[in-house]
Amino acid sequence: MNSTKLLIIGSGPAGYTAAIYAGRANLSPTLLEGSQPGGQLTITTEVENFPGYPDGIDANELMDNMRRQAERFGTKMIPNAATSVDLSVRPFQVSLNDGSQWEADSIIIATGASAKYLGLSDEQTYMGRGVSACATCDGFFYRKKVVAVVGGGDTACEEASYLAGLAAKVYLIVRKPFLRASKIMQERVLGNEKIEVLFETNTLGLYGKDGVEGAHLVYRKGESDERQYDLPIDGFFLAIGHHPNSELFSPWLQTDAEGYIVCEGDSPRTSIPGVFVAGDVADPHYRQAVIAAGSGAKAAMEAEKYLTT
Ligand code: NDP
Repeated sequence: MNSTKLLIIGSGPAGYTAAIYAGRANLSPTLLEGSQPGGQLTITTEVENFPGYPDGIDANELMDNMRRQAERFGTKMIPNAATSVDLSVRPFQVSLNDGSQWEADSIIIATGASAKYLGLSDEQTYMGRGVSACATCDGFFYRKKVVAVVGGGDTACEEASYLAGLAAKVYLIVRKPFLRASKIMQERVLGNEKIEVLFETNTLGLYGKDGVEGAHLVYRKGESDERQYDLPIDGFFLAIGHHPNSELFSPWLQTDAEGYIVCEGDSPRTSIPGVFVAGDVADPHYRQAVIAAGSGAKAAMEAEKYLTT
């Protein structure tokens, strides 16, 4: 059995920042990096809105900087993921995917969020063969090809703009008659001649022999002028939001209807003393690296208070 005063679960901006603060407070934290060290940012390219980088910074470099900063102050990095937790006993018990067991006096949950899918069986059929939820991971395979992105938020606009730099043509499939994205992202998309926005359009399915060759779409579903048609595409990218990675903790902690962990007011405190939350797993609204980082700092400060009083 391994033991630690503070176990930080998750390695995005929230987890690493919590580790920097906890390390500087002499808590010698242990951090579980999980299956995607660096978190969601590592699947994007450049980060333009993290303060301190006037010319932007490569997302992987930013996360690597945070990781090294956390290590500098004594964080022990574990390259594994938690598979189960027991928050009903003290110290808290955590099992990892390598079979090891950890006990911790306090925990900071910073497990982030993951991309949502539409729920079509075709998404599974063509997964990795034309279906992706990460343009920056897979966009390279679609150079000079035709792709579609589903969604009308900032993520969808960002992904469509990124893909437009590689692909011959990008369709943005938006179910409403307007984009939900911020003005600057809307302008980027609407001003890009390679991007065509298909408003009031839903996806019914995908088709293709060995991989995606097209999508079955419906325009103005349920209206008198409803029209179903097929759109030939080579790639189908989902960008319709995220769900919080809170499943491990939901037997113990209160979550909202979408699974986000509920905190005490604006604090990182949960209903269990000694268990704190940081980042997107408790943030249905902002989902920004800088906000996740700030919440990691808050969680570490609360953990310090808990462990030292
Ligand atoms: P959002 O929840 O903002 O947008 C999701 C989009 O997907 C909406 O257009 C929604 O449509 C659509 N959608 C959801 N479910 C379906 C479905 N079943 N079928 C079709 N369309 C669907 O998620 P994002 O990931 O875009 O953004 C989340 C947060 O992160 C936001 O606050 C955003 O501002 C922020 N963000 C900021 C960035 C930046 O500043 N650089 C970059 C990326 C995200 P509808 O509008 O009809 O609900």
